[in-house]
Amino acid sequence: MEIEAAVFRKILEPLSIERVEIDKPSDREVLVRTVATGVCHSDLHVIDGLGRFQLDRPIVLGHEGAGIVEAVGSGVKGLKPGDHVVACLSGFCGNCEECLSGHPNLCTGAIVARSDEALPRLSQKGAPFRQFLGISSYAEKMLLHENSVVAIDPEIPLDRAALVGCGVLTGVGAALRSSGLQPGQTVAVFGCGGVGLSIVQGARIGGARRIIGVDKFASKREMALRLGASDFVDSSEEDPVKAVRALTGGRGVDHAFEAIGDAKACRQAIESLAIRGTATIVGVLPPEEKIEFPWMAIRPECKVQTSRMGSNRFRTDIPLYLDFYRQGRLKLDEMVTKRGRLSDINEAFRAMKAGEVARTVLSFD
Ligand SMILES: [Zn+2]
Ligand SMILES: [Zn+2]
Repeated sequence: MEIEAAVFRKILEPLSIERVEIDKPSDREVLVRTVATGVCHSDLHVIDGLGRFQLDRPIVLGHEGAGIVEAVGSGVKGLKPGDHVVACLSGFCGNCEECLSGHPNLCTGAIVARSDEALPRLSQKGAPFRQFLGISSYAEKMLLHENSVVAIDPEIPLDRAALVGCGVLTGVGAALRSSGLQPGQTVAVFGCGGVGLSIVQGARIGGARRIIGVDKFASKREMALRLGASDFVDSSEEDPVKAVRALTGGRGVDHAFEAIGDAKACRQAIESLAIRGTATIVGVLPPEEKIEFPWMAIRPECKVQTSRMGSNRFRTDIPLYLDFYRQGRLKLDEMVTKRGRLSDINEAFRAMKAGEVARTVLSFD
């Protein structure tokens, strides 16, 4: 069947809206009518051709999608047409060592994509198209492995739920699942985009006593404070390490998070730590990038760790975080700062680059 999709063909060039063929679901696949998709930074990295994000083309991008199941393959259990679902790029096999030890976000048993011998899920006039992260949500329909989706309460608006598939899952999970944050601790978040603001929210939900948002765009201040930050540091105006220390009586913070993917911000996060503090690097750096800091800058017994997709077990975490939303603890309405249609995709990337938005959500209805 033919669908409309935003196709990426050339690095640094706008995506083009094209007619694309999508296959029927086989065995363990689900066909989902896309209702909404968030526009995430990782897609922009692909368009910019950065490091590990150099992918074969043409490819349909987008990975923060939510929608309604239209059809399921004969082997699918627990999902049926009409179910509301959120897609997640942490599709898991359920059999590898990481899955079996309770860390499906680190699954090494690639099953979310079809094999190269099989018919492609997406194509155009017989030529195969690549699918992005087993999802490709910048399209009217998504064909996914059942382990790439989770069914959610149909009462939850899908344009809000979509965000929890990537950015919110990553940020809230970094605070609640990866970092080891304890109630009453202090937090600094470097980078207040969609992921950073979700870390701020996760830290608030997790009971942090003080949450310092740091961003080079002063425009992020109001949003950070509204979503739970107690303080905001404009890093284009002042040295954020000094500012974080000043705000914590010279001690530094128990937890610093880096949510940009920038070596300098990583160093600043590490240098902002209190004794026995933990820096959690959530952003993705270019593969050859080095994070350097003087030995004296790191306080005794500090830890530096990374977080992948909020250490999620998304089949349980997405419904949990949506419960927080329903209870008013997780703010998603405020995170959607711009809306549009699929044809607005290139404008959404421009606004993201300019630091104008927490999230753009594209709707298909
Ligand atoms: Zn993402
Ligand atoms: Zn696995």
